[in-house]
Amino acid sequence: MTRWLPGILCLAGLPLWGATAADLARALRDNSFDRGECYRVRDIAVTREDIRIYLNDGHLIFSKPVAGRRIAAVFTTDVENGDGELILMPPDRAERRSLARFVGSPNLDEHFRSAVFLFTGNEYDAIVAQLPNNPANRKVPEIGAVLEEEWTPALRSLTESYQTRLVLDLLDSPSRRPGLFAALFSSAKFGNFDALYDPDSSDQITIGQIASRDNLLTFDVWTNYPSKSARARKETPPLDFRLSDFRIEATLNPDLSLNTVTHVKVTPASDGPPAVPFDLTTAMSVSQATVDGHPAEVLQREAQRVDLTRGGNGLILVVPAAPLKAGRTYEFEIRHSGKIIRDAGDRVYYVGARGNWYPTHGLQWANYDLLFRVPADLDLVTAGDVVEDRTEGEWRIMRRRTSAPIRLAGFNLGNYGHARVEHAGYVVDVCANRALETALQPKLPPLPPIGAEGLGTRNRNREQTMQQVAPTAFSPTERLHALAAEVAGSLEFMVSRFGPPALPHITVSPIPGAFGQGFPGLIYLSTLAYLKHLPGTSANPADDLFFTDVLQAHEMAHQWWGNRVTAATYRDYWLMEALANYSALLYLEKSRGTRSMELMLDGYRQALLRKGEASPNVDAAGPIVLGQRLENSQDPGAWRAITYGKGSWILQMLRRRMGDERFFAMLAELLKRYDRKELSTEQFRETAAEFLPPKTDDPRLEGFFEQWVYGTGIPSLKLTYVLKGKAPALKLVGTLTQSDMDDEDFSAVAPVEIQVARGRTITQWVRSGNTPTTFTVTLDQPPLKVSLDPHYAVLRR
Ligand SMILES: [Zn+2]
Repeated sequence: MTRWLPGILCLAGLPLWGATAADLARALRDNSFDRGECYRVRDIAVTREDIRIYLNDGHLIFSKPVAGRRIAAVFTTDVENGDGELILMPPDRAERRSLARFVGSPNLDEHFRSAVFLFTGNEYDAIVAQLPNNPANRKVPEIGAVLEEEWTPALRSLTESYQTRLVLDLLDSPSRRPGLFAALFSSAKFGNFDALYDPDSSDQITIGQIASRDNLLTFDVWTNYPSKSARARKETPPLDFRLSDFRIEATLNPDLSLNTVTHVKVTPASDGPPAVPFDLTTAMSVSQATVDGHPAEVLQREAQRVDLTRGGNGLILVVPAAPLKAGRTYEFEIRHSGKIIRDAGDRVYYVGARGNWYPTHGLQWANYDLLFRVPADLDLVTAGDVVEDRTEGEWRIMRRRTSAPIRLAGFNLGNYGHARVEHAGYVVDVCANRALETALQPKLPPLPPIGAEGLGTRNRNREQTMQQVAPTAFSPTERLHALAAEVAGSLEFMVSRFGPPALPHITVSPIPGAFGQGFPGLIYLSTLAYLKHLPGTSANPADDLFFTDVLQAHEMAHQWWGNRVTAATYRDYWLMEALANYSALLYLEKSRGTRSMELMLDGYRQALLRKGEASPNVDAAGPIVLGQRLENSQDPGAWRAITYGKGSWILQMLRRRMGDERFFAMLAELLKRYDRKELSTEQFRETAAEFLPPKTDDPRLEGFFEQWVYGTGIPSLKLTYVLKGKAPALKLVGTLTQSDMDDEDFSAVAPVEIQVARGRTITQWVRSGNTPTTFTVTLDQPPLKVSLDPHYAVLRR
């Protein structure tokens, strides 16, 4: 029997110190396969958490070591009866359903032709230790020479995608930092697809595929969930780095490039992290960094594969001269610059880069002190109270400071006209461009929505809304004062319902395209909302209401939902959109009447029932908790219809079950209980259940959430009834019939309203099901009218 001498044993002891991040990046870039480490293999298992890979029969070659560690391998099945197999079983029904939508089966058991592996864990040792188990396993350097040549380009390409992340792992010791595992498979059925275990992510397991649609690349997430060990963990681990006190100085040059110095305090949770990772838009490049005044190394790399899942951000590493200590606070200074401002024509500018314009580490609550120098003829608006605003020669200098912690600071700029409204301690400053951007000028085609550019992934918080509407010939400043009054009106309404907004100074500024975004203290509002809409210019009356009333109120509502209460994970983000949109509908209902709100709800229902691209209707594309994953290559429009439309309906249905008083008390309680905290879908369910009327069926709302939040489906409901006997012992015997549902367990609760006299109505809630439900109501006189759900209590066909 052959004795195996694992090569890693003599390499593992090499000290890593001395290798800079740049050295490691270079070594990774130049890495190649090692023909001396090529094996004929049978029956090798590679297991990382939930990812189980079987190298049943084929060839396996390892890469050369980088910093003493072999971090890559390729397995090929180029032998007779060669075979490799990946097995993965998502732990819950929602993830099994998601996987099934992409691969046609709730579990993955896929045979593959080849696989490239990248790892910074102990995979090499684990594989080499299995080699003696099968006598067929042996070294085959002659095959190694062929594979080395054939696969080194694939290795370099995959390594490039994960380069910064690999460097971060290699700088650290394997005992302190659990390693990344990434695999790129090639199978006959699916072509190339990815499997990833990323211990830095909250849902560590991801299986998916890069897909293209309309020339845009997206990353379709087939399934994504917490790994085995994370599921077993009771508590969420603390933040690895706490960021506080941002101080940002930015100079906007006449060519629209931005030179920025970001100061931020960083406190590590544990001893010895050799580098701090930051997210920064790939449109910015970092020139230098210091930690407590001492020069630090910076590694920055653009990589498409990573960007596809990072919302336009790239990962940068700041490597201090000495490892950091737990609990100590360090002052980081990072200098970065880039062209992130775009010119939409006629001196209409906007922040066009996707991702963060300054380095962040997750979204953390922090205070901001922001100083901008811009050409004197431009206006720049950002979050916080005005501390300084003066002109110095060619330059205008503006400084703002936030009066409460926020999670993200945005800015906007232009040649603005202003309308300012002060009321009850709040300041609303509405800015309008003095000119109309080229795309909106008469006779020119409309500007494509911002999200349609680039790779098709959306900016976090930024939302595209509805279709383009016909441009009009009005000047954007014409409606400025009317708009300011509307914005102040929605602010006042929401303050009365929800209490103070995220920041007391709110600036509203225009952005080209048909979307908005609500930063704390700063709202981006579609330029379309500034224009006067002539009745009938849109095909759908809901579109008019949307641009005139809903959009500004929706963005205003994000001052509470998204900027005071925030979402725990991407699965909970729908809550912020649904709560913001429903708050806007409440404002619409108050200012324009119930019918306007019903028009919007009708529009959302129609959008959900429209035929889907890969499903019988748009609603069936997936449950609302999939969040951004719904924006995939199968049906990218489904994300919007479900997040905004179904989200609004979910709140409408809860409101009808609770009644107005309890519903508004529930919203106020959410803001109190989760103020400057994260809210999860389950916490929302628990809070909502507390506000149900006594003796409600489904008292914990588990059934409701299972169907409307974690599931899909929109039923048809039909009511028939007969009257039996005579007054005063009259009986109304009704039957509620549900149809159009694939899911046999689906059931909805709908109100039947029986009007027995003028101003006297009996409401009977009836639960529908797979078979018709019969119910009886005793009446003392014949009913004037019997109707099923006249007030939009159930989303139904
Ligand atoms: Zn929104």
